[in-house]
Amino acid sequence: MRIHDLVRDDIKNLVPYEPHLFKNVIRMDANENPHLFPQEVINSIFAGISGEDFIRYPDPLGMELKAKISAFTGQSPENIVLGNGSDELIQLILQTFGGPGRRMVIPAPTFSMYRIHGEITGTIPVEVPRDEKFGLVTDEMLAQMQHPDTRVTFIATPNNPTGNCVPIHQIRKLVQEVKSLLVVDEAYIDFGGETSLPLLREYPNLIILRTFSKIGLAGLRVGYLVADREVTSELSKARQPYNVNTVSQKAACAVIDNWQIFREQIAEISAERERLVQGLQAMPGVKVYPSQANFILFSVPVSPDEVHRRLVEDGILIRKGLGSTHGLASCLRVSVGTKQENDLFLAKLNEKLV
Ligand code: PMP
Repeated sequence: MRIHDLVRDDIKNLVPYEPHLFKNVIRMDANENPHLFPQEVINSIFAGISGEDFIRYPDPLGMELKAKISAFTGQSPENIVLGNGSDELIQLILQTFGGPGRRMVIPAPTFSMYRIHGEITGTIPVEVPRDEKFGLVTDEMLAQMQHPDTRVTFIATPNNPTGNCVPIHQIRKLVQEVKSLLVVDEAYIDFGGETSLPLLREYPNLIILRTFSKIGLAGLRVGYLVADREVTSELSKARQPYNVNTVSQKAACAVIDNWQIFREQIAEISAERERLVQGLQAMPGVKVYPSQANFILFSVPVSPDEVHRRLVEDGILIRKGLGSTHGLASCLRVSVGTKQENDLFLAKLNEKLV
């Protein structure tokens, strides 16, 4: 018997996501919040956790957190589904609406997990190339979205790894002309761009995906989506009942309760982003792509893998391997860090290019 022979054909050829763990580096590779989570908020979260919370299963409906998200977004709790990170929700959407013989549309380049969850669920990923400024080619998007086998389309705005946004009028044009689902992934919406939440009232085929990861809870894995009740009730059939643990639910509540603190961190990150852009633009041969997110895509005139390796030697980890199309082969992506981290990154990168 070979275990490999027992594996589903579509899983056999996948490569596991096992990021290389670098120790003692400044992490500017995963678009997390670089500011420490406030100790007083940690204290308040743990003050609200009892021994009972450890031995009992979490609230399967996440009622308290949904009530907070409801107040935060202006949407009813019935329209919200919680996830163990928004990654889990991407998979849940595809488990529910995708599958063999069904297509999903993604404008490329974009967040790699859409395709990977597509492959895991047997859904056929259809990539529509973006234009040279990474904007959507709406006619081609529409043509693919209107294919009878298409069930779902994923559009991230701001987009990862490019950092640009899709204007809301384009989202409206796409969602109103198709009979399949459109997921607007707003993972980075706190850093820029316009939310599509107001469109939910008009379009039952729209799903808005959000995460707490980029504003300070990446380690606790909390995401949510907002959609029409028919969509949320179908998704709830395939959802693991206890997918978001008790500590994570309470921590996400605390983030909303203390939004003022996080709002200030977000403002600081956005201001630092502009400083990083200017610093990068001043470097010889570097091309910087405009970003409304908490990271910046840029190309370098020398081998990006070499630049990446030498930065790691200096204790700075950024993101490489963004793909081979669209000129990304010469690109790297840096997440906005603290002021000191950004200064160090700029100084060390500059050394590699002069
Ligand atoms: N969507 C986009 C566009 C992302 O970049 C990421 C994280 N890199 C996610 C979703 C997943 O976020 P999480 O699972 O941490 O909520």
